[in-house]
Amino acid sequence: MGEYAKLNGYEIKLGTCEDMTYIRREELAGANFEPMDGNATTKAAYLNAPGTFWRFPYPDEDGLTRVSEWQGRTMAARKLVLRAPDWELSEHRAVTVQVPAVGGDPVQGISVGMPCPMELAKLENTAPIQLFNTGKASQLVSPIAQKWMAPDWQYTVFACAFCGHWFSVDDEDILSLVAVNRAIQPEVCARLLGNSRGVAEVAA
Ligand SMILES: [Zn+2]
Repeated sequence: MGEYAKLNGYEIKLGTCEDMTYIRREELAGANFEPMDGNATTKAAYLNAPGTFWRFPYPDEDGLTRVSEWQGRTMAARKLVLRAPDWELSEHRAVTVQVPAVGGDPVQGISVGMPCPMELAKLENTAPIQLFNTGKASQLVSPIAQKWMAPDWQYTVFACAFCGHWFSVDDEDILSLVAVNRAIQPEVCARLLGNSRGVAEVAA
């Protein structure tokens, strides 16, 4: 079920159930909040619900807000894709590949479901599927959310860059991720480690 509220006078979608990745937690904390008809959830209840996934603070979205997007600006696409060191990830999901008909008619095309390339890479025999790597074969991940548990406890949730499967790792693994991705900024490292941008508990 979609979660909607009026922020600073604008009706916006916050997310779906505990997936509130449409908006940073700090933006909701600082916004003037009015509930929508039929939704009794208060701002404090949203902010203090353990297990909620909030939008990861992508650096290229600093200065943009969910509210400003609603006023006509476009929120930048998520661009933070990182090479994972040697993480043992499981539970990858099927990847859907759209194959349009020659000529480009999407209605006449087909959708093909195939295992995540990261799963296939672990198999010795991938026939009859042939993999054509467009780049150097490596495990790619993207930070997707900050999962808030308590005032001093939140952590980054990552997604497989191919199939989108969500997972989390410990701080030690995040530091190894930072070591592999040398171009990563210290500020981004702090955000990946989670707590530096946490918002203090909001009184109910
Ligand atoms: Zn995957």
